[in-house]
Amino acid sequence: MNKKIKVIGAGLAGAEAAYYLAERGVSVELYDIKPESFTPAHSDKNFCELVCSNSLKGKDPYSNACGLLKEEMRILGSLTMEAAEITAVPAGGALAVERERFAEYVTQKLKSHKNIKIICGEVETVPEEWSIIATGPLTTDKLSQSISAICGGQLHFYDASAPIVSRESLDFDHCFFGDRYGKGGDDYINCPLDKEQYESFVNSLISAEKAVLHDFEKREIFEGCMPLEIMAARGVESLRFANLKPVGLKDKNGNRFYAVLQLRKENPLGTAYNLVGCQTNLKWGEQKRVFSIIPALKNAEFLRYGVMHRNTFLNSPDCLNADFSLKSNPTVFFAGQITGVEGYVESAASGILAAIHMLEKLNGRQPAIPDGTTVCGALSAHIAGENEDFQPMNANFGVLKPLDKIIKDKKQRYAALAQRALESVRAYKEKL
Ligand SMILES: Cc1cc2nc3c(=O)[nH]c(=O)nc-3n(C[C@H](O)[C@H](O)[C@H](O)COP(=O)(O)OP(=O)(O)OC[C@H]3O[C@@H](n4cnc5c(N)ncnc54)[C@H](O)[C@@H]3O)c2cc1C
Repeated sequence: MNKKIKVIGAGLAGAEAAYYLAERGVSVELYDIKPESFTPAHSDKNFCELVCSNSLKGKDPYSNACGLLKEEMRILGSLTMEAAEITAVPAGGALAVERERFAEYVTQKLKSHKNIKIICGEVETVPEEWSIIATGPLTTDKLSQSISAICGGQLHFYDASAPIVSRESLDFDHCFFGDRYGKGGDDYINCPLDKEQYESFVNSLISAEKAVLHDFEKREIFEGCMPLEIMAARGVESLRFANLKPVGLKDKNGNRFYAVLQLRKENPLGTAYNLVGCQTNLKWGEQKRVFSIIPALKNAEFLRYGVMHRNTFLNSPDCLNADFSLKSNPTVFFAGQITGVEGYVESAASGILAAIHMLEKLNGRQPAIPDGTTVCGALSAHIAGENEDFQPMNANFGVLKPLDKIIKDKKQRYAALAQRALESVRAYKEKL
């Protein structure tokens, strides 16, 4: 194929995208600031660096959504999965890797590929055509400005996400649908607390252990959005007049509640709900412990925990198509964490997807998006689906299209979802 394209950023997503296209005959110019300079989180001269944990999360596709996503990626032909298998270290049910060897393996594959030309240097402006931008959560300032200008300012610089729970795990003896002042619908679920429960919740929130931020994160994050625990520390009543205010909500006898946490529908399927106004910097285990004090959330399944950290990401529903291309210029694609997927594996997966869709377009075909029964498809739907409060999303079973029949047992349900997803990805691959 006589086509030349640019991939900007050789991290998890860029490496996958460049390799996928190069393997299929596309000439790729792969740009990265490495090894001449580094973002504040990177330090290895090799590409595809795992900046923090060396774990790519759970292995088993039938019980772990990230395991399922990894299996989907293998079917689609993933370089990072190949590298992970070769450089794996024992980690129980997780796929962990020796990070230096992992990065080195991927870098060698890229550098030795006849269709890939590596170019070291900072790309400062968004190219005008046939490119994939995969510069990650710490995209350099100049390129960020250019992206922001092209996307009408729709670029965020930090995450302030509230936890998301699955609807099926809520205790409906202790919560109910409806919005304030008698407005119905299933957009909100209300979780009341009495005085004792409220005070116990606030006290636990204040004393819970917080996640440690990196030096480059501390300033910006709390300027934009106050964590729930900081607001709670301002006085025991503060949340009752803000995030947990009970106004406009009454019990069956017309009495007002002491405090109410509202959950808002996170996806059109209504399988996931976010805890409104509960952006938090608590450690994940602490989030589970503290929020379970709220009766409706006693056994809540957390599909995603709240995070507050430095993260450059697009308001993708406004800017991107489900094939990861720009709405304003469909020859320019984005991939990786900058699109609003979260995590190493999810970022790498989006790199493959962007590459698949670009190749289809280069061949004059309309890209087909994997459907919502697959983790790949559900993440694509997340980035492009309508969402007034778009926040990054990781792989989880809650974002998948529900099964046609109800399976109450979680283990069996996950296994059935996984089986359906893998069949669907195989069929998708056949059609490419
Ligand atoms: C501090 C920190 C800790 C994290 N810990 C974890 C974790 O433990 N587990 C997890 O799953 N996820 C973690 N993440 C998220 C993780 O970084 C991403 O999921 C993943 O690396 C994103 O992949 P990516 O390809 O989008 O970006 P990256 O892997 O960051 O790759 C982006 C590449 O683009 C290059 N680049 C940036 N700007 C330019 C430019 N203008 N021109 C050319 N090149 C450029 C960078 O040098 C880099 O090589 C963490 C993120 C941060 C910031």
